Amino acid sequence: MSNPVVAIVGRPNVGKSTIFNRIAGERISIVEDTPGVTRDRIYTHSEWLGQKFSLIDTGGIEMGTEPFLTQIKEQAEIAIDEADVIVLIVSVREGVTEADEKVAQILYQTDKPVIVAVNKVDNPELRADIYDFYSLGFGDPIPISGVHGIGIGDLLEKVCQSFPKEKHLELDQSIKFSLIGRPNVGKSSLVNAILGQNRVIVSKIEGTTRDAIDTPFKTENGECFTVIDTAGIRKKGKVYENTEKYSVLRALRAIDRSDVVLVVLDAETGIREQDKKVAGYAHEAGRGIIILVNKWDLIKKDNYTLVEFEKLIRQEFQYLDYAPVVFVSAKTKQRLSQLPELIKQVSINQQQRIKSSVLNDVLLDAIGRNPTPTENGKRLRIYYGTQVAVKPPTFVIFVNDPDLMHFSYERYLQNQLREAFDFTGTPLHLIKRRRN
Ligand code: GDP
Ligand code: GDP
Repeated sequence: MSNPVVAIVGRPNVGKSTIFNRIAGERISIVEDTPGVTRDRIYTHSEWLGQKFSLIDTGGIEMGTEPFLTQIKEQAEIAIDEADVIVLIVSVREGVTEADEKVAQILYQTDKPVIVAVNKVDNPELRADIYDFYSLGFGDPIPISGVHGIGIGDLLEKVCQSFPKEKHLELDQSIKFSLIGRPNVGKSSLVNAILGQNRVIVSKIEGTTRDAIDTPFKTENGECFTVIDTAGIRKKGKVYENTEKYSVLRALRAIDRSDVVLVVLDAETGIREQDKKVAGYAHEAGRGIIILVNKWDLIKKDNYTLVEFEKLIRQEFQYLDYAPVVFVSAKTKQRLSQLPELIKQVSINQQQRIKSSVLNDVLLDAIGRNPTPTENGKRLRIYYGTQVAVKPPTFVIFVNDPDLMHFSYERYLQNQLREAFDFTGTPLHLIKRRRN
């Protein structure tokens, strides 16, 4: 599940974000109509000849008023911490600069592969100038032009060759989950409380630094889970530790590696703008989602409090209507013992495969009860559907004209699927495809 990670580093203006955007390409978001979801421009997924990877533009992690050299130094350190392969971008126009050398010096501290890409080689004449960059000490520099798209294939080929081989092995079968949410909602307290109720497994497999923040545990019933800590190992004294972009990056990485994401809200402070942003990331990634309302012990309750709070959540997070809501307290441990079972169920729902014959019965029934819409005298025809993927369950629906399938009808079909099958906690993805 966990893809290798590539980080782009380099001083400002060498073309990092240009190259990032080019590699990211026109990645189609799995969820098209998600209100309030802001795309993060420093982290994306990409693919080269079938090899999937995640890509980070460290240049996008700004550190406020820190001096220039501190910023590029810290960005290089983030690359060392987060990535499997590092691409150091330099510019043929300025040649080797002092700042390039400073970045290189930081990168000497890691054993991870570093590839030098010489950008702005817009025409073949400039190729002769790339040899100066051997002096950085990372082997053959690769000439590229981010603006013109030259050499990107050669660069990605070298990147993919450099991925650690064992990355592709999924060693354990436990259900992986993470807790995300804005600071102080109680994520660490919840992790500790959950681990306190279960038996923590001491792993014999030596992990990398990044994997060391994963804690596997077993419940009384013998179910295995792994909780992925979003905060990660605290890097004391690092400037980037407290930047918002970095914490978003950590959350996105944790979401990527999770089967199920617990979106934590704070009952006392209520729902904030940042909560929606965080929840949006999990929704976009197509993971299983459970909403936790933590600190429930602090709320003065009557018979309506819980219902009212859930109503509010449904209003504020309309696109998460599939996510169960659980009111918990890390302090009193209220309802925490229910979580493993619920996480497991959501994970199963995410991997559910529906047979085409059964799926088409449900679709036919749905169309029978609520006929397809017409536009300008033309009626939407649905020929048949088939499930093409899990995590999240993804269905291709063959129709006469995809434009005739309006959002409301698509929504209706989704709801019918949810009524027929247990998809609690998982988004569904419907792809409309034209068939004549
Ligand atoms: P970053 O600060 O490293 O992220 O750099 P940007 O991607 O913002 O690019 C800095 C400037 O260099 C912009 O004006 C880009 O248009 C320009 N640039 C990026 N790639 C190329 C390239 O391949 N050739 C040329 N000539 N200019 C480029
Ligand atoms: P994080 O930043 O999301 O990891 O939040 P922490 O776990 O550090 O918790 C932030 C603060 O909220 C701490 O002072 C916790 O003691 C407190 N806290 C966390 N969970 C609960 C809870 O369920 N009830 C109460 N009363 N306080 C809590």
